Amino acid sequence: MTNKLKVSFLTLGCKVNQTESEALNQLLTSEGYEVVQEAAGPDVVIINTCTVTGSGSSKSRKLIRRMAKEHPLSTIAVMGCYSQTQPEEVSQIEGVDLVLGTQDRSMILNHLHRIAEQKQEKNPKEKTPILAVRDFEFQAVYEELPLIEGETRVRAMLKIQDGCSQFCTYCIVPYARGPARSRSSEKVISEANKLLEAGHKEIVLTGIHTGAYGKDQEGMDLSKLISQLAQLPQLLRLRISSIEPMEFSEELLTAVMSHKVVCPHFHIPLQSGSDSVLARMKRPYGVEDYARLLNRIREKLPNAAISTDIMTGFPGETELEHEQSLKFIETCEFSGLHVFPYSRRIGTIAADMPGQLPRSIKTARVQEVIALGLKSRAKYIDRFIGKSLEVLVEKIDEDGSAQGHTSNYLEIRFPSSLNNGDWQVGQIIAHPIKSEYIVW
Ligand code: SF4
Repeated sequence: MTNKLKVSFLTLGCKVNQTESEALNQLLTSEGYEVVQEAAGPDVVIINTCTVTGSGSSKSRKLIRRMAKEHPLSTIAVMGCYSQTQPEEVSQIEGVDLVLGTQDRSMILNHLHRIAEQKQEKNPKEKTPILAVRDFEFQAVYEELPLIEGETRVRAMLKIQDGCSQFCTYCIVPYARGPARSRSSEKVISEANKLLEAGHKEIVLTGIHTGAYGKDQEGMDLSKLISQLAQLPQLLRLRISSIEPMEFSEELLTAVMSHKVVCPHFHIPLQSGSDSVLARMKRPYGVEDYARLLNRIREKLPNAAISTDIMTGFPGETELEHEQSLKFIETCEFSGLHVFPYSRRIGTIAADMPGQLPRSIKTARVQEVIALGLKSRAKYIDRFIGKSLEVLVEKIDEDGSAQGHTSNYLEIRFPSSLNNGDWQVGQIIAHPIKSEYIVW
């Protein structure tokens, strides 16, 4: 009997990267590989990298170097956004065997096969890296990487889209991921069915620029896709991971309201609450547009959770612009904030803008926005204390307590004292919420 080849995945960055690693994990498993922890001495180490910030690139480099050093005889394969944008740099790291980017990942088996053959012919420590990264073509197509498992037993990520054509001035993503392109709705529905058959109850639609879904397809858009998915009989919840403000159309709001399974939880990146900063970022909206959108959503769904991304210290951001931003953020009553300091990405327009701010200013502003975000979140949570909310159970602990999320994405832990013995993972439990049930 031949031993199975062992492979380990190390993934940095966003949910899309996690979904893609998971898809390759399944591809390799179906070809007879055994997925193991990195400490178990794998034959192949696959590092899925990130470059969205300087820290993402630096973590990626360090991880590749560490893996190459700790596993000199293993095949070291690198993929993802960092290797797509810096393929030469990655191929020069000692010990790397294979450099893939964010395209052609389904070819990994062929490459691994070739590398294994080469290793048999010569000293496995002697490496000649295969560089399999190509530039994006204008008409890049969506690369199918089918996935039939999810993030947890209950919730699954479903990737519907890749790439972005917006070119916000600070963002490296269009270079790392190529132009916006959508997965066909037939493929999306078919994968959703597989996820439901495998026992998942909640599907989260992910992508790099999810709101651009369908723009490259005749007669299709995100609202239509949502309406199709919402019909699937076993689906308990459907969530949209993130949507750009100007893409939250009337049709989308109608689709959300018409289908009870669609969660009233929207992550709508604002980035800055100052119009002049938004203009320099080349974001296609101003704060008035954003405020109008929030009103439009809340008129119809008053308890919707609306979270956002904020970037502090964009080049030239003055104290006044930062103050304007804080004031505007406060009025938005967000249910949560993701706050990042501006990170200079070589190759983007903002990297060459004057007024690059020192790290100390960027991080001090991050702290101010985080503090505001925590206050805003506490206020949002407060609205639900004493009210009965439905929690989809993701985990039951040994002591009988149950953990899961509400449809508006509050994480709840019901104590075992409420459990009369019949709780199950994947079930929806409705119960009045006490503040001690909330997981922060
Ligand atoms: S919309 Fe802007 S911030 Fe978002 S991925 Fe595209 S370029 Fe980057």
